[in-house]
Amino acid sequence: MSLATLATMQDEVKALARERDAVILAHNYQVPEVQDVADYVGDSLGLSRQAAATQASAIVFCGVHFMAETAAILSPDKTVLIPDLDAGCSLAASITADQLRAWKAENPDAVVVSYVNTTADVKAETDYCCTSGNAKAVIEAIPADREILFLPDLYLGLWLERVTGRRLKIWMGECHVHAGIRPADIVRWQEEAPDAEFLVHPECGCASQCMAFGNERTHILSTEGMVKFAKSSPKNRFLVATEVGILHRLAKEAPGKRFEPVSEEALCRYMKMITLEKLRDSLRDWKHVVAVEPETAARARLAIERMVAIA
Ligand code: SF4
Repeated sequence: MSLATLATMQDEVKALARERDAVILAHNYQVPEVQDVADYVGDSLGLSRQAAATQASAIVFCGVHFMAETAAILSPDKTVLIPDLDAGCSLAASITADQLRAWKAENPDAVVVSYVNTTADVKAETDYCCTSGNAKAVIEAIPADREILFLPDLYLGLWLERVTGRRLKIWMGECHVHAGIRPADIVRWQEEAPDAEFLVHPECGCASQCMAFGNERTHILSTEGMVKFAKSSPKNRFLVATEVGILHRLAKEAPGKRFEPVSEEALCRYMKMITLEKLRDSLRDWKHVVAVEPETAARARLAIERMVAIA
């Protein structure tokens, strides 16, 4: 697409959003041209807060399906659209509500903490949701004598055990994108880029090892935490271990600094299913509506509201 065509389509998207009274929310992993037309770009926690607070009558969610479901649960009186219904998540698909019910039956006294990357049906079986931005605070808010079932991300769970000192029962799920970033990637860069700071997402396959073997240049952060860190750091070079879409936002918000991916292959094909063209079609043709069955939504809402409330 030429730059002129791109600019015309971005104008079209903004005009349609105004006409339809829709707010455009985009995840940090979205393609740059979608991020650039969004009213708000952020991580799951920030986007959930925006979805809960918006005055617009509709939300177009440029992210993956569980995120649009979360917006629909938080704003049941608004229409929530996703530009491509096939934008799923390998991590959310790693546990079903039936599997969680069986796990709870084996551990009847445990508190269930679910990472936000789960379906609405799984959230409905959950006590607390969390994101990587507030997972530590959520675990610390639970009385120390309570057993915790943490799901579905293995690496985030291992990292939480280290930073909170709590023993967790952890579901063995993983995100194929983050699990693919291995300790060897970090070790190689630590040698090859002695002037760089390492920003590592806790979902990564290397995160728990980074906690053990990383150095003072290694920082385990949510994507929002990466943006804040890069903006305020006096350093100029950063190596980033998460989905590569975040590089666009980092470069925009911390201009003049150098950002490089630890792995060029850390690319989420689900996030990249959302294109500017599909976003335009979504607003123009009012598709695809994401709705959550009211009883499931009511049960899931409590867990999500606890997540949104904990900083
Ligand atoms: S990057 Fe991983 S966790 Fe995030 S949406 Fe893609 S598959 Fe899911």
